[in-house]
Amino acid sequence: MMPPPYRSYVLVSLDRIARNYRNVCAAVGPGVEVMAVVKADAYGHGALAVSRTLVGEGAKWLAVSSVDEGVALRTAGIGVRILVMAGFLPQEREAVVQHDLTPTAHSLDDIAELDRMAGRAGRPLAFHLKIDSGMGRLGTRAQPQEIVAALGALGHARLEGLMTHFASAADFTSPQTGQQLARFQACLAALREAGMGVDYVHTSSTNAIGYARKDAWHNMVRAGHALYGYVSPARGAGPGQILDVQPALTWKAKILAVKDIPEGTLVGYGGTFRAPAAMRIAILGAGYADGVFHRLSNRGKVIAAGQIVPMVGTISMDLTTIDVSRAPELKAGDDVTLLGAEGDVRLDAQQIARAAGTISYNILSSISARVRRVYV
Ligand SMILES: *Cc1c(COP(=O)(O)O)cnc(C)c1O
Repeated sequence: MMPPPYRSYVLVSLDRIARNYRNVCAAVGPGVEVMAVVKADAYGHGALAVSRTLVGEGAKWLAVSSVDEGVALRTAGIGVRILVMAGFLPQEREAVVQHDLTPTAHSLDDIAELDRMAGRAGRPLAFHLKIDSGMGRLGTRAQPQEIVAALGALGHARLEGLMTHFASAADFTSPQTGQQLARFQACLAALREAGMGVDYVHTSSTNAIGYARKDAWHNMVRAGHALYGYVSPARGAGPGQILDVQPALTWKAKILAVKDIPEGTLVGYGGTFRAPAAMRIAILGAGYADGVFHRLSNRGKVIAAGQIVPMVGTISMDLTTIDVSRAPELKAGDDVTLLGAEGDVRLDAQQIARAAGTISYNILSSISARVRRVYV
């Protein structure tokens, strides 16, 4: 394949994502539905192309963060169920109903509001309820009996799913996941005692799947990171990781210019790099506005001509400079790899995250909209 003509682009393997999805499905087994998380433009991979691929693989549920993200998928023709996980604003209520999105309730007030929305719409509205079992973020902290009472008052809307989210599922030095699960189970038990059924119970995302916390799988899991080929490293003595998933994204940038500089030359803003000897540098057509972390200044790496080479100087908005002294064959117009592999040489989002002082999720979802997505 001829390299695409863009100054910076990502190649996304939809086959890889499909394989990762099948692998997650196989790992949890046939009794557990896999809800595919495609929020944040499918972690930078392109929400629409990824969603179409997953629907083609049989996915019945997608999950997004916002109403806007859900509407974009609906408008583009995605017909499967879409859970909106991170709340809905008053001005978004109409779009939830109109586009047949499935909202998540995070409070007793949300439950009442959803019931009013369903009443006004004059049609069924199914929703999922999120329990804050100890993460201290979104979700209701109401007592089980208060939740039962709020649900008992529903006249129009219907509780379809009960969920929570773990704060520390990959951390085997912390008791937090067990404590969260116990609180969640108490809530679920109270609903069942009150004769309230739910179709879906879901508490696990990638880490709780990958580290086989099977008591937290129930009959649905929410997989995001794993679909894109990553499972975070465990802390402490965890069980082996059971998912066989691989990264699906390669990020490239073109060399705009190559030049030889003498010893002592300062490179980039602030003159933070001084050439220790005569050297050859290449200037790449991607910078922090494309998602190259500014923190990688003088510490990041790229793959150029099949070798790992260092970034030198401060990352600029649109440009990044690298040391290509050891790759004299490189010239303007050639591609280098910011994330991905050339032959056996790899640079993945977890390695980049370590150098940038962040996490792999942050690296992937920061690749900006101006970086063209090319599907292979
Ligand atoms: C993002 C998100 C997920 C997916 O998490 P991964 O670690 O990427 O699998 C699941 N549930 C909620 C509530 C989320 O916000």
